[in-house]
Amino acid sequence: MKKEFFNKEIETMRPEELLPIQEEKFLHQLDYVWKKSPFYQKKFKEHGIERGDINGLEDLHKLPFTEKDDLRKSQEEHPPLGSHSAAPMDDVIRIHSSSGTTGVPTFVGLTRHDHKVWTDITARSLFTKSVRPTDVVIHAVGLTFFVGGLPVKDAIEHIGAAFVPIGTGASDRVVVTTKRLGGNVLHCTPSYAQYFSDYLRKKENIDPSDLGFKKLVVGAEPGGGVPAIKKRLQEDYQCLLSEGMGNSDAAPIIFGECPAQQGMHFCAQEYIFPELINPDSGELMEMKEGAEGELVYTLIDRECCPVVRFRTRDRITVFTGPCGCGRTSFRIRCIGRTDDMLILLGVNVFPSAIKDIITFFRPRTTGDMLVLLDKPGPKVEPPLRIQVEYSPEEKDLDTLKKELETVLRNKLVFRADVELVPDGTLPRFEMKAKLIRELYKGE
Ligand SMILES: [Zn+2]
Repeated sequence: MKKEFFNKEIETMRPEELLPIQEEKFLHQLDYVWKKSPFYQKKFKEHGIERGDINGLEDLHKLPFTEKDDLRKSQEEHPPLGSHSAAPMDDVIRIHSSSGTTGVPTFVGLTRHDHKVWTDITARSLFTKSVRPTDVVIHAVGLTFFVGGLPVKDAIEHIGAAFVPIGTGASDRVVVTTKRLGGNVLHCTPSYAQYFSDYLRKKENIDPSDLGFKKLVVGAEPGGGVPAIKKRLQEDYQCLLSEGMGNSDAAPIIFGECPAQQGMHFCAQEYIFPELINPDSGELMEMKEGAEGELVYTLIDRECCPVVRFRTRDRITVFTGPCGCGRTSFRIRCIGRTDDMLILLGVNVFPSAIKDIITFFRPRTTGDMLVLLDKPGPKVEPPLRIQVEYSPEEKDLDTLKKELETVLRNKLVFRADVELVPDGTLPRFEMKAKLIRELYKGE
């Protein structure tokens, strides 16, 4: 494999060389937060922690977690950006909104320095995801509040590739523009890549591979790492798919998958300090091969809206073995988000894992599905109701239903009640897919 880096020194650094850099920045950041953030002054005081108690990263675990709800409350009580914001509004040059999967959105402010940091992390992640200066990137993602929009534009321009902003809801324009400009990279959500592939075949009568994309660069939802979806998209477009993951409170894209496709590399080495915790007990876990837990971020180079030990609710598996691309950072796969998790008789089930199985059954199913909830989760009384679309060619529906229920029980260890519905019944998504319908909310 060709070894190419955006910042060779930092991306190939040994962990023991990186740690002192992270530590120095962490202590500097902590001084800043202690001085400038009323939110953290109060939080640390409430937990009986003094600045002198924290002398290095080995003391980080003594600091309390920051939850998304804390930030939401801080912003409601101290508008516009909250008492955690730590920088005067005069210094803020951009404000994004973090949609989150639940609750009221929060705003994230950036100073000029923060903007530079975001651009650097995101560019490093996109370069890891194989975006190069010679590429023409067709951007089929919205450019509004969403951190996958404008910050990605900045990062792609920083790499030196050509950025083509198309947005969503304009598939006809994606087709025409890609052909005329010779677009070779499609940047979108995995849901859009699936939607667009069907659109090309059904509406434009084109095979997706004929558009000439050489790379599919996806993110913003777990789909790119779901094995059956990844396989389907790589076959449809006949090119490499690489996924990424970020967090609107930390940075737009923090992890990027290299061509070895053995998980996404951590790409914010000197900007974010990551921890792995047991999501139930909050206990710190070792970042070692095969470990599974929740990601926690401490920003170590941030002026506006710094967060310390921020619980992401992202559940991940860690890989630490060497990678053929030459990068030394650890890698992850995202299992799902705690907010989406369902619990059936004590077994954790993520909707993306169900989607994986339903997609694996293509072409007998269309791959589209919806979990139906009569009552709020996460605890659900089995059987779990799932609507699954079958393809027009499938004739033996009784057998298909039985097979789906058996595989779901064997692989994910829960009892499902599958309701087969015809092709085109379920909603399609051009941004993030919604895999659960909450009937109790009147959806
Ligand atoms: Zn790699």
